[in-house]
Amino acid sequence: MADRSSTSAGKKKPVSRSRRKPAGPALHYQVSMPDPASHTFKVEITLTGAADHCTLAFPAWTPGSYKLREFGKNVSSFKATGAKFEMLDKQRYRLSGIKGGNASVSFDYYADELSVRTPHLDDSHGFFLGTNVLPYLEDINAMPAKGDYTVSIKPFKGWKVATSLPTVKGKPNTWHTDDYDVLGDTPFEVGTHEVLSFSVRGIKHDVAFYGYGNYDKKRIVEDTRKIVEVQARNFGGLPYDYYLFIHHMTPDSGGGLEHLNSCVCGWPSWNFKKEEDYQKFIRLVSHEFFHVWNVKRIRPAILGPFDYSSEQHTKALWIMEGMTQYYERLWVARAGVCDADTVLKAYAETIDREDNRPGRKVMSLEDSSWLAWTKLYMADENFLNTGVSYYSRGAQVGLLLDAKIRNATDGKRSLDDVMRYAAKRYGWPKPGFPEGAWEELVEEVAGQKFTRFWNDHVKGTKELNYDEVLECYGLEMSRDKEGFEPWLGFTTSSKGGHLQVGAVHAEGPARKAGLQPRDEILALDGHKVHAKTFEDRVSELKPGSDCTLTLFRREKLVEGCLRVGRQPAGKLVLRPRKKQSPTQRRNYRKWLAKR
Ligand SMILES: [Zn+2]
Repeated sequence: MADRSSTSAGKKKPVSRSRRKPAGPALHYQVSMPDPASHTFKVEITLTGAADHCTLAFPAWTPGSYKLREFGKNVSSFKATGAKFEMLDKQRYRLSGIKGGNASVSFDYYADELSVRTPHLDDSHGFFLGTNVLPYLEDINAMPAKGDYTVSIKPFKGWKVATSLPTVKGKPNTWHTDDYDVLGDTPFEVGTHEVLSFSVRGIKHDVAFYGYGNYDKKRIVEDTRKIVEVQARNFGGLPYDYYLFIHHMTPDSGGGLEHLNSCVCGWPSWNFKKEEDYQKFIRLVSHEFFHVWNVKRIRPAILGPFDYSSEQHTKALWIMEGMTQYYERLWVARAGVCDADTVLKAYAETIDREDNRPGRKVMSLEDSSWLAWTKLYMADENFLNTGVSYYSRGAQVGLLLDAKIRNATDGKRSLDDVMRYAAKRYGWPKPGFPEGAWEELVEEVAGQKFTRFWNDHVKGTKELNYDEVLECYGLEMSRDKEGFEPWLGFTTSSKGGHLQVGAVHAEGPARKAGLQPRDEILALDGHKVHAKTFEDRVSELKPGSDCTLTLFRREKLVEGCLRVGRQPAGKLVLRPRKKQSPTQRRNYRKWLAKR
């Protein structure tokens, strides 16, 4: 593994292109950052071959993150040369009076939101996605026009650029694509990041590290290589000629975002030392990388080509994200990056949490997917009672579906076959699948109808039953402690040093006693409690007894009298049976064993 000075240079690198004569309009973006501490990118766009009027539009959202983020809001000092301009709405600029097809615009772009999906510039680095900072040219349907999109970046002194776009031959720090969806999907990391590399199937992969922390970068790179290898083996190759991992390690970092040939993972700087924390991080890498196939290539038609102007709805996000959560765990086990017990523990934790969530009886996976923009991405304290996450619930259904396909085909086929088939049939750049088509793919692979399963668990809210999973792989599921423990039926949070009621479980004692989200908790049975002691104090209560909570509700002192409830003690554990049949042993091996 070599430490490269720039990810745009190297042995095997993104395909360089000579500049072609544009067939249609051409946009050349120039992004500079002369004063990083101002958090302001300077952007200039030169248009050639344009009509006498045209519209530049900033996306309202970015793929993979289903929330309106209104990237046009960060623009100021917009100017046009060789054209007049008017603002059509919050994010679109109409240029008119263009002569000879040539015009240019410039603007300042404020970037001070450090996350994997938003633009950021300060004295440590610059980061943005194409959708954040670079507007697209609208075609007659107000979708991104086909054209020549070229980006040049002038890094701050001493900084370099990591990005996954193909470079333009002979032009330093310049990249090109003829598809705005590719440009919009591309992250640009500009700074002094360290880059390590590895190769899989002759294809170069770079890993760029921004930030600091207690991580072992060589271990991360080696584990990532194993994850790439095992996924490549499943799909019979890699669908790109270069891949870039960008890791953001700062105290507040978190989350991940997938792209066509790259991903960005955020992780808190100091959360790498504990093995459990590291395993969660490497599962995030596994998750984002699996999106190379699931969502970036296999996707519902609405998720590419993209309409960036407003929310785009699909019932299939549970496949895109839930299946990816299901698989992120399989890949790390199959790659030998963690043992099977760790993976089984992760599935058991999801089952334990999600099967006790009141919202599972209210919201189906399809509804959770469809309403992602206003439910999961805007989840309030009542989402516990009225909603499910298409990530976790989708992963549970993935676990069931995989076993069901194996059982239906005597272990000859599995969800792996469905994924391969979906990639072949609908993988980008082919058109995405129509809503509802995934069910047909599963049935074709399994050779039987799954109508009831779909009605019960995808369109409906029927309780999940794990018997088929346990039988298929020879597993047993039980709790690691017998009996019950006290339960008050609410979560807590800490705000400004004050302990507060978080979400109130619809079927719990707190709900019956009238406790409300944001009540400040002062005392339990007349004695002061705070964040550090509250859980211990509750654990000493007796199920069936009464207790009193003293609270501030909007600064008024109130009391809540609760009849202490009970919940099963300990944790749910999923483990292989001591005696597995030969079929179960075979299924278990094919499912989870290192390969
Ligand atoms: Zn994801």
